[in-house]
Amino acid sequence: MAALLLRLPNYYNRNFSISASSSSSSSSNGAASGGPSQQGGAGPVILEIPLNQIRRPLMRTRANDPHKVKDLMDSISQIGLQVPIDVLEVDGVYYGFSGCHRFEAHQRLGFPTIRCKVRRGTKETLRHHLR
Ligand code: ADP
Repeated sequence: MAALLLRLPNYYNRNFSISASSSSSSSSNGAASGGPSQQGGAGPVILEIPLNQIRRPLMRTRANDPHKVKDLMDSISQIGLQVPIDVLEVDGVYYGFSGCHRFEAHQRLGFPTIRCKVRRGTKETLRHHLR
């Protein structure tokens, strides 16, 4: 196990550390590599994850409300993201199925990362989400 210190963007104005596995996880470009530590099936962890490391398989099937996105952009730039988006981690890959408006607001604001509540799942969990 290795300690990983995450430096958050300025708008969070704080750092936090997590414990991350140094084993065989295979995330694509490293910024959040290793995945969250959830030994023994423990609960979710909060992680700052680059937007480009979160796969959104249902993105094309769901349209966001542009007014909601705009309101969220205004609010997030003023007070920051108050509720992290839910993300599923399967074999070191992050999948997002909800939090679509918050995700788009971050994209439009040009933020490189988004705060996520990460749960670890199996391929079966993933298949269930994709049904
Ligand atoms: P999403 O598709 O992102 O879930 P919703 O409009 O359904 O969009 O919900 C917006 C969510 O964003 C709410 O759960 C709200 O609590 C959360 N949230 C997090 N940060 C903020 C913020 N700064 N201002 C407004 N809502 C926020």
